[in-house]
Amino acid sequence: VLAAGAVAALSEVAGDVQRAAGAAERLLELLDARPVIRAPDRPTPLPSPLLGAIGVEHVTFAYPSRRDTLALNDVTIRIRPGERIALVGPSGAGKSTLLQLLLRFYDPDHGRLCLDDVDLRDLDPAQLRSVIGMVAQEPVLFTGSAADNIRYGAPRASDDDVRAAARDANALGFIEALPNGFDSHLGPGGVQLSGGQRQRLAIARALLRNPRVLLLDEATSALDAESERLVQEALDRLMKGRTSLVVAHRLSTVVSADRLLVFDQGRLIGDGSHRELLETNALYRHLASLQFGTTASKDTGQEGKDP
Ligand code: ATP
Repeated sequence: VLAAGAVAALSEVAGDVQRAAGAAERLLELLDARPVIRAPDRPTPLPSPLLGAIGVEHVTFAYPSRRDTLALNDVTIRIRPGERIALVGPSGAGKSTLLQLLLRFYDPDHGRLCLDDVDLRDLDPAQLRSVIGMVAQEPVLFTGSAADNIRYGAPRASDDDVRAAARDANALGFIEALPNGFDSHLGPGGVQLSGGQRQRLAIARALLRNPRVLLLDEATSALDAESERLVQEALDRLMKGRTSLVVAHRLSTVVSADRLLVFDQGRLIGDGSHRELLETNALYRHLASLQFGTTASKDTGQEGKDP
C-alpha cells in the first residue's frame, strides 16, 4: 500500500517533474526506480473536444518485480464520459494498479487501455497526463507558497483563477487565515497543514488544471466531521461533469457513485450499484459490512421476525 501511495502521489507531478524544485531530488529517485515508458515517435493527438470515455480491454498485468502475481487479470471495463466510478475490493486486489496503468506508469502485458478509443500507448504521455487529474491519498505539497502549490501544473493561471479554485475547493477560508495568506510558505520550515487542509489544497490544484478525467485515491485516515464535510463537498464539485474513478473507502462515495467495480485478486468480479451489489455479490456484501458498516439490507432482519 505504501508503495502504491508513493506512486500515486508521484503521479501528480510526473508530467513536469523539473518544476518541482523543492521535491525534485526525492522524486527523481523514485522516478529512477520506474521502468521507462516509451513515447511513440509520432503520437496520436487526443480528440478535441475530449469526451473522457475510458476503455479497458482484456488487460492483464504483473509488476516487473512480481512476475508471479497478476495484479490485473483479464479485466474489461467500459466507462462512459462523465461517469462516476467507485473501485472497491480488498487490499491488493488491483485498484491502484488500474489507476497506474491509466496514467501510463506501466503498460499492460496483454490487452489495451484507451481514452476516447485511442490506445494510451499511441498518445504522448505528457498529453495524457495533462488531461488526467490525480488526487492522491496523501497529497504532496511542495516547498513554496500556497498559491504556488495550487498553481502547480497550471503555471499560467491568474491570481483570480487560483483564488476561485481555492474557493471551490473549500480552501479559501484557511488559506486567508494563514499568516501571509496565499503567499504563506508551506512545507518544511513553513506552515504545517492538517490532513484535511492538504487534501483541499490538492483539490484546488486539480480544479485549476481542469482535467477531463479524474483519478482519486480516497484517504483512509479519518478526518473530523467538519473537515470531512468540507473535503466531501470539494470533491463533489471537482468530480462534477468529469469522468472519475475513485478508490473508495467511504460509504458516501459508493452510495453516490454511478457504478461500482469490485476487484478481487486482480479480477473484476462485480459491476453495479451499491444496492445491486449488496444483493448479488457476496464479496461486496462482506466488504461493505467491514469497510462501510452496512449490512446486506435492513429488510433482512425484518423477514426473520415473521412467524
Ligand atoms: P490497496 O487497497 O491495499 O491499495 P489495491 O487494490 O490498490 O490495494 P494494488 O496496489 O493494485 O491493490 O496491488 C495489486 C497487486 O500488485 C498486489 O498483489 C500488490 O502486492 C502488487 N503490487 C502493487 N504495487 C506493486 C509494485 N509497485 N511492485 C510490485 N508489486 C506491486
